Parts: sequence; structure tokens; C-alpha cells
Amino acid sequence: MTLPLIYDLNQSELAEILASWGESTFRVKQLWQGLYLQLWNSPDQFTNLPASLRQKLEETFLFTALQPETILSSHDGETVKTLFRLTDAQPIEAVLMRYERRRTLCISTQAGCAMGCVFCATGQMGFRRNLTSGEIIEQVLYYARRLRQQGEEVTNVVVMGMGEPFHNYDATLVAIDRLNSRDGFNFGARRFTISTVGLVPAIRRFAAEKRQINLAVSLHAADDELRSSLMPVNRKYPLDDLLSACHEYIQQTGRRISFEWALIHGVNDTPEQARKLAERLQVLKRNGTTLCHVNLIPLNPSPHYNQQASTGVRAEAFLNELRRHGIPCSLRIRRGIDIQAGCGQLAGQNEKV
Ligand code: SAH
Ligand code: SF4
Repeated sequence: MTLPLIYDLNQSELAEILASWGESTFRVKQLWQGLYLQLWNSPDQFTNLPASLRQKLEETFLFTALQPETILSSHDGETVKTLFRLTDAQPIEAVLMRYERRRTLCISTQAGCAMGCVFCATGQMGFRRNLTSGEIIEQVLYYARRLRQQGEEVTNVVVMGMGEPFHNYDATLVAIDRLNSRDGFNFGARRFTISTVGLVPAIRRFAAEKRQINLAVSLHAADDELRSSLMPVNRKYPLDDLLSACHEYIQQTGRRISFEWALIHGVNDTPEQARKLAERLQVLKRNGTTLCHVNLIPLNPSPHYNQQASTGVRAEAFLNELRRHGIPCSLRIRRGIDIQAGCGQLAGQNEKV
């Protein structure tokens, strides 16, 4: 049986265990700071603790659940992708993107995904299991450690790797809260972005919690017929319901929403789709501004989806059509395309099924 992962425990849970061993609260603080400030991931690094306590920690907890299996760097070295194996051999991926002064991590919340979006390599793998909060946290600490060796630090975390974060709501939010804790990693909530496929009840719950975390919603189509053909979840939560939950989020939090749109040649990159999208987003208008931002991203290739990314000309035309309707938007360039940095591409490829 594998030991519990130490990052799965919060400070009071650790305190309880240490207290049961007769340790003082001071030791809890040292342990917490070792894990989340020094970023130590092995009991021998805790030289400030007595050897007997280190030994006990080693016997009781796992200090790492993520084994890096494949590490790929893009040609320019700015994007690094790591495929990890979890203790039960499930594959997950996390990506570091360097862009100007930003050091953005893209992390996973599930091994595989149950949502079945047809264009997505992770969706094509099917659902394996939810990650624990500790497994989510460890992806961030892994890269934070690497960056620290180069005198750098993580600036942003996007929950846009493998899996649907709102299908693993509690573990995802626990992980973010723990990384957010002031006496630990102290990573501000505003520097996180959660991307969801559009699970309406979870969006409403998230809105009610009024958190500072940024929200992105994957849209990819502006009518139900097309969206359902790309994203099966749309049959359960069609666009009217989704946009109404987004509206509620904006009302409750006063925050902007990002919408993700993967541009697929001849499928969702027509001027008609752009106009329909602009029309739908009118409901998010407040005092003359639409409280959203549409991110257009050319489709990444995936093994079981035969369509192509839009050409540059069509992508620009789509962008301009949205702009003409006053929708804030931008066209992102594909980063790390040479290392298959898209969601789930590496894990899917390495499958031995
Ligand atoms: N499950 C969440 C977050 C992970 S997917 C979600 O769906 O939002 C992160 C983003 O990558 C989503 O916007 C998703 O639609 C997008 N994506 C998935 N496969 C893609 C592909 N082949 N090309 C471009 N974007 C893709
Ligand atoms: Fe899951 Fe997101 Fe991929 Fe859809 S796009 S299958 S929700 S990971």
C-alpha cells in the first residue's frame, strides 16, 4: 500500500499527527515552511528537524507522487512539458511556458477526462481518475523548484492541462487554497485561472463563492448544434444555460470571463459563427463594455480528430469580425507546438492500450 502524500494534508491535519507523536507546534511550522517555502521534497532536507522526526516522516508519508517520465523542451527552450507517472502509473502532464516576464504553468486536475470533446487528446483517452489535491499541488511545486534553481519563479498558474477541473471541484479548490496560504507558498488567487468545459452548476457554485480566481470557459461554438457535435457536455448544459451562468458569475463577482475558442478550419471559423458569438455575448454587457475576453487559438492536432487549424487569413477575419461587434478578443499564437504542448497530447500518445 502506498503511503499518504504529504501534500494531501493541510496544516491542521499535519499538526494533529505531529501532536500525536508528542511534537511541539513549532515543528509543524518548520515542516510546513520546509514544504512550501523551502520547497524541500525529501525528509533528509529537513536538517532543522531531529533525525528521529525525519525518520518518522519518511515512514509515514510519501514526499513525492509524481515521477517525471518524459521532459520535452521546445526549440526556443521557452516551453517545457513534463509527462509524469503517478504512483498508480497513470500519466499526467504539466507545462511551463516562458513568455517575456511571465512564467506560466499549465497543470492537470484529472488523469484523462470524462467530457469527450472530440478535438481534445485528453478527451480521446477517456476518464481514468481524479487527482488528489496533493497531486495537483505537486505539479506546481515541481516547476517552482526548477525555476528557483535559475533564480526565477512561477508567475501564473492556468488549470488548463488534462481533465475538467470542475468535475474535480473540491480537490482543485483545496489545492489552490493551499498554494494560496500566506504562511506557505503564498501564491495569490488572482494569479490562477481555472478553465471549464462549461459545467453550469459548478460555475454557479464558483460564482457564489466570490473568489478572486480567474475563470475561463471553453466555448468553441456559438450554436447548440455545432457545440454539441464538438462537446457532448453541451447536450446537458446548452448555450443559453451556460451563458446565463456566466452572466450570474459576472453579476456576483464583477469579474471578466475569458472564453476559449479553438479555431477549426471550415468548422467554427466562419464569419457567421463570429456574428452569432458576438450576439450571444451581448448578455454580458455592463455599462457599455462586454465583461469578457475571447481567446482564439488555432486548433492543435490530436490523434483522433481529422480537422485542421484555421489558416492565418481566416483566423484574422474571425478576429476582426468579433472586433467589429465590440467584443474584446485576441488571437494567440501556438506555443510549444513542436513538443505537443496541447492538452493531453503526450500522455495520449504514450498510451500502451
Ligand atoms: N477541461 C477544461 C480545461 C482543460 S482543456 C476545459 O475544457 O476548459 C484546456 C483548453 O484546451 C480548453 O479550452 C480546451 O477546449 C482546449 N483544447 C483541447 N483540445 C484542444 C485542441 N486540440 N486544440 C486547441 N485547444 C484545445
Ligand atoms: Fe476534457 Fe477539457 Fe479536453 Fe474537453 S477539452 S475533453 S473538458 S480536458
